[in-house]
Amino acid sequence: RPPPDADSAVRSTDSDAAQARLSAVRKGYLADPYVNLLVPRSHLVPARPPLINIGTYVRSEALDALVEGWLEAGDGVKQVVSLGAGSDTRFWRIMAGPLKDRVSQYVELDFPEITTHKAQAIRKHKELHSILGPDVKLEKGGTALISPQYSLLPVDLRIAPSESLAPLLDSLSPHIPTLFLAECVLVYMPPSASNALLQWFSDNFDCVGGICYEMFGLEDRFGQVMRENLKARNVSLPGADAYPTLASHTARFQNHAFAHANALTLKTIRQSYISPAELERISRLEMLDEIEELELVLDHYAISWGAKLPPDSEAGDLAR
Ligand code: SAM
Repeated sequence: RPPPDADSAVRSTDSDAAQARLSAVRKGYLADPYVNLLVPRSHLVPARPPLINIGTYVRSEALDALVEGWLEAGDGVKQVVSLGAGSDTRFWRIMAGPLKDRVSQYVELDFPEITTHKAQAIRKHKELHSILGPDVKLEKGGTALISPQYSLLPVDLRIAPSESLAPLLDSLSPHIPTLFLAECVLVYMPPSASNALLQWFSDNFDCVGGICYEMFGLEDRFGQVMRENLKARNVSLPGADAYPTLASHTARFQNHAFAHANALTLKTIRQSYISPAELERISRLEMLDEIEELELVLDHYAISWGAKLPPDSEAGDLAR
């Protein structure tokens, strides 16, 4: 095993995210038959506290709704690029559902250590590789996996996208509506790097949407505790201070020509967008003592989205 490098702590946040998802699935908040295949020694992963399970649930439901809205809009197929995809299972969940024919290309990007591990898990588990068909190739020393519809590529997203993302233009069409996802990723890189990514998508696709999920508003006491916890693990958040408010998350999209943009906190999504029946269902899954603490935590996470649409387009208007 190589010694940890400066980025190993950032990569380790993928295990946190995947283990939190596994916990929420096991408790019955979410349905995901794939997550345990991507978590090593999944049977040893302890349950997360109710607060984490509920946060994972709200985040996942909100992102699913936005992605599904994009895929459903208009008539044609769509392309999806997931930045810092980690152990995300979204591609397989979409392929198992009614929107599978809407996806022409799905690309996942992450550090090579993460993509190597994911490529191995895909090769190992039939549930994961059978969806890709027979024409699956490992490339770049096992760090990349290429199939007709799905690709997994090793990239350091801090490198100028004109260089790092250029290979994507071989398989993606600039004329097919394209959605990028950045789920808890941009906060780990300097704003100059994340802005370059947004600008690259804006420049290279006629019709493009993006969805970001981030922690924010970390200047208060709660934020300090969160930062200290992460610092103890050597994780810094170079992207956190540039976007301290919900309005700044919306403006980030607008600054890169994603004219239709919006942002909501997980607190607001839980209060106003999750149906009463679902809230009732999840309230029965486990005891949550501290609703105030839950709301404080959820108030520090934002989902923002934006779309750059060609004139007269109805495809994928994420801002609706
Ligand atoms: N998006 C996944 C999810 O929500 O489940 C994983 C989120 S995890 C918190 C952050 C991911 O971003 C990790 O897999 C990490 O390796 C990746 N990441 C962070 N900075 C990156 C960079 N500069 N280049 C490539 N990947 C990066």
